Amino acid sequence: MNLVLMGLPGAGKGTQAEKIVETYGIPHISTGDMFRAAIKEGTPLGLQAKEYMDRGDLVPDEVTIGIVRERLSKDDCRKGFLLDGFPRTVAQAEALENILAELNRSIDYVIHIQVDKDILMERLTGRRICKNCGATYHLVFNPPAQPGVCDKCGGELYQRADDNEETVANRLEVNVKQMQPLLEFYEKKGYLRHINGQQDIDKVFADIRELLGGLQ
Ligand code: AMP
Repeated sequence: MNLVLMGLPGAGKGTQAEKIVETYGIPHISTGDMFRAAIKEGTPLGLQAKEYMDRGDLVPDEVTIGIVRERLSKDDCRKGFLLDGFPRTVAQAEALENILAELNRSIDYVIHIQVDKDILMERLTGRRICKNCGATYHLVFNPPAQPGVCDKCGGELYQRADDNEETVANRLEVNVKQMQPLLEFYEKKGYLRHINGQQDIDKVFADIRELLGGLQ
């Protein structure tokens, strides 16, 4: 089961990614998480990525493609994988096609979780993330049992600096522009499937399960 998950910020990618990897036992490969982990550990990759991430820029393709290539060749990806936050550019999408071809694999589906922009505005400002394990919550739609505390690991919840109202509109605009060519790329390839993200979390996941039902 070789999957790419796409959606604008706040579309519910993180929540659905957790459910998909738990249900199907495939690794969740998030380039953003990998860069954040590298920064935390102070590795050379982290130092390189930090400079770009702090500016809100994309990390250069050659660096990003390199870490994805390495990750996808690990044993735990044999059963499949869920890519999240990658590809972000058409060059990355093309590189992914090549990497998978070398591994004798191909993408099964690119799952696009679709949500209107005005709804995303509301969602993004209420998002909270666990400092420790990265689990995502929402003050209104998916609150933790205890305010400010992660249900899964007891870690402290925080609001991402870029989830405040002033920057959300701009961030959405930038992301729409970034994502559009990728949606076109995958539409042409025939991998793209749209999932209605404006439903209950469980209904969104039920739709994803229905889509994945026929896959190994
Ligand atoms: P995310 O958690 O997916 O929002 O990613 C956080 C940051 O990591 C992005 O703003 C980029 O600076 C960097 N990043 C993550 N994935 C990629 C990617 N596929 N290509 C380039 N930069 C990325």
